[in-house]
Amino acid sequence: MGNFFKSIFKVISGLFKSKVKPVPVEIPAPIEPVIVSVPTTPSVPEVPEDLEVPDNPANDNIDPHKPDDGGDYTTYPADEEKLYYPKAIRSDLKLRTRGDYKYKYPQGAVVHFTAGRGRNKKEGGVKNAATHLEMGKRSIASEASNQAYAYFIIDRSGNVHQNFPLNRWGYHAGESSWKGLSGSVSDELVGIEIQSDGKLQGYFQDSENGTKYDCPEGKLAAWYTRTKSGDLLFDKVTESRYSENNANIQKGWYHIYTPEQEEALLELLIWMKRNNPDVFNLNYVLGHDEVAPTRKNDPGAALSMTMPEFRKKIDDEYKKRYPLK
Ligand SMILES: [Zn+2]
Repeated sequence: MGNFFKSIFKVISGLFKSKVKPVPVEIPAPIEPVIVSVPTTPSVPEVPEDLEVPDNPANDNIDPHKPDDGGDYTTYPADEEKLYYPKAIRSDLKLRTRGDYKYKYPQGAVVHFTAGRGRNKKEGGVKNAATHLEMGKRSIASEASNQAYAYFIIDRSGNVHQNFPLNRWGYHAGESSWKGLSGSVSDELVGIEIQSDGKLQGYFQDSENGTKYDCPEGKLAAWYTRTKSGDLLFDKVTESRYSENNANIQKGWYHIYTPEQEEALLELLIWMKRNNPDVFNLNYVLGHDEVAPTRKNDPGAALSMTMPEFRKKIDDEYKKRYPLK
């Protein structure tokens, strides 16, 4: 810059400085986390869109094109052995079924997570498996009302709870599709709800004013986490799994299924195949995130592998146990 320009610049910037008053910068007061109490009856707060809440009518609205014979959970068929998993605990969850499957048996399954409130300090949190299941069931029941249903629930200990005989279908997948199946898969594939608190995140919000707080080092929060109480946070290393986008998995952190749950899921699917091999197709064991990828993220990385890998695993195991003669 020549001297001439330098001096012009000096004059201009001098004028500028003298005319402009300094803008007071607001320094935020240090934020103290507010500990809010968790209501006993969960009133569901606003939920970020990318987090799955228990399947509910808003997300998984009913499909008017599907038949509805007005049946309910009291419709018990005569042939119970084929229609109830022998290892299952018969559940008392009262939800409505819609009709018989086309082949009186599901052609496959959809793997879900409940994304329920698994942790609630007042209820004893995850230390109490029964409570955890109750919380899962309660959130399924309250969210789903009589619009959707949970056919199987696999609790954190790996117990399988069965609510309906295997000839009856109900809504669980919402708007969904898969090659070879009709427009919406609920009346073709059985829903398996696996208890997991779903997608996790590095922050949580104050329920009153919406202020966001970062989780403590090494911890993650669920969609319902509203306090810094340890019970409501998840350990990154032992309870969570991160994945990039990979096959069905949508990038992010997930509350992992327990090894017991994965084992129970595998055994249940192998039994369902063996029980009716002509109808149940292992290629139709699908993630909710595969049949409704724009709306759903379950199971994502809650499962320790992608869904294509999982299908291969079930198929390999099935062939090993029941080789074709
Ligand atoms: Zn789902």
